[in-house]
Amino acid sequence: MTPPSTARLKQLDRDHHLHPFTDFKALGEEGSRIITSADGIYIHDADGNRILDAMAGLWCVNLGYGRQELVDAATEQLQQLPYYNNFFKTTHPPAVELAETLCRLAPAHMNRVFFTGSGSEANDTVLRMVRRYWALKGKPEKQWVIGRENGYHGSTVAGMSLGGMAPMHEQGGPCVPGITHIRQPWWFSEGRDMSPDEFGRVCAQALDERIQELGADKVAAFIAEPVQGAGGAIIPPDSYWPAIKEVLAKYDILLVADEVICGFGRLGEWFGSVHYGIEPDLMPVAKGLSSGYLPIGGVLVGDRVANTLIDEGGEFYHGFTYSGHPTCAAVALKNLQLMEQEGVVEHVRDVAGPYLAKRWKELEQHPLIGEARSLGLIGALEIAADKTTGQRFDKSLAVGNLCRDICFETGLVMRSVGDTMVISPPLVISVEQIDELVDLARAALDETA
Ligand code: PLP
Repeated sequence: MTPPSTARLKQLDRDHHLHPFTDFKALGEEGSRIITSADGIYIHDADGNRILDAMAGLWCVNLGYGRQELVDAATEQLQQLPYYNNFFKTTHPPAVELAETLCRLAPAHMNRVFFTGSGSEANDTVLRMVRRYWALKGKPEKQWVIGRENGYHGSTVAGMSLGGMAPMHEQGGPCVPGITHIRQPWWFSEGRDMSPDEFGRVCAQALDERIQELGADKVAAFIAEPVQGAGGAIIPPDSYWPAIKEVLAKYDILLVADEVICGFGRLGEWFGSVHYGIEPDLMPVAKGLSSGYLPIGGVLVGDRVANTLIDEGGEFYHGFTYSGHPTCAAVALKNLQLMEQEGVVEHVRDVAGPYLAKRWKELEQHPLIGEARSLGLIGALEIAADKTTGQRFDKSLAVGNLCRDICFETGLVMRSVGDTMVISPPLVISVEQIDELVDLARAALDETA
């Protein structure tokens, strides 16, 4: 049977396929771009274009595309044992070996992992675990979870509720009760009337105030991404995390560091929490865990919570058919082994991250750019009408989306979050490829201007 032509595929896509986070009508006559293959840091579309994927898919293809070792790991596991579950008293080698490897790479106080199929499911798990923890501690009234405006923790009902994306809260019925959000440490957009460090402390103060409003005896946990990803690669001021840590310790509130994007080397350490010197009680992970080759997530659980759940909790009525799926686990395990063997985290920390920081900063000279920031291999460009004041263009112009579309046309995937352009390339990107990325971004900005 001959495969459908590109035009036919586009038609079938329009007729039958509901895309995530997409205005279906806006697909229009032109339809979707059809991606057919990929290698290294490049994707290829059905029209023969080669595009530098500076988003690593969706912040996940950390080892880059086309790694035969990952294909082999999946194939071998599919032949050996394609599926079995981990419920009750069964398990299988890939889940156990992956759990051990993850705990070895994680901070020393994290020695258990609960597997899920995605980052969203990991955050659903988090919500149930923290509330269960406090109930077991004899404090069932400690129920509130504090997140951040514009934070992203997934698309399930609990993930969406923990996140602080207002447009998501407005659709599809009420959020999970007992979740509230404080301001985000986005200096460029919200803190320019003070120094970044002062602003970082003000944001941490907002956490303190919210805890006092709710009553510390009613607050279970604070959840945040070490660097906010989907909200716009928001790198907090240096003062932020130390001040947050102090507030949480003062009131005995659990910290959940959502490592779905920052985990597995993105910030130049195995986990973003390590970069910031924070010691979370729980760390949801996904994406880079398998470099996106197969879907898998999990929650790394610190000893404090794990010991209580195990020693005092009995059965935890929670789990997914695909928790620790053997084929996904085998690929994730191979992915972590390759990362260790190839020194990928060190490459980000010592080579690619510092080089990107230098080249990316040059884009601040561009007339459209108010700020160019990066940390490790996550970065953002703030498009502004006035570079000095940071004043934005009129929203109706949708300059960020325009720039994103120009990028795509000219061979670069860069994501727009409003007028913030975001990158999160594969961690294996070379310095020459960073040059190419920066040149493509500059050319797209020139065309947008
Ligand atoms: N948490 C963070 C920080 C994320 O960025 C995402 C996805 O982008 C999620 C959770 C949700 O992960 P998934 O899409 O695998 O459910």
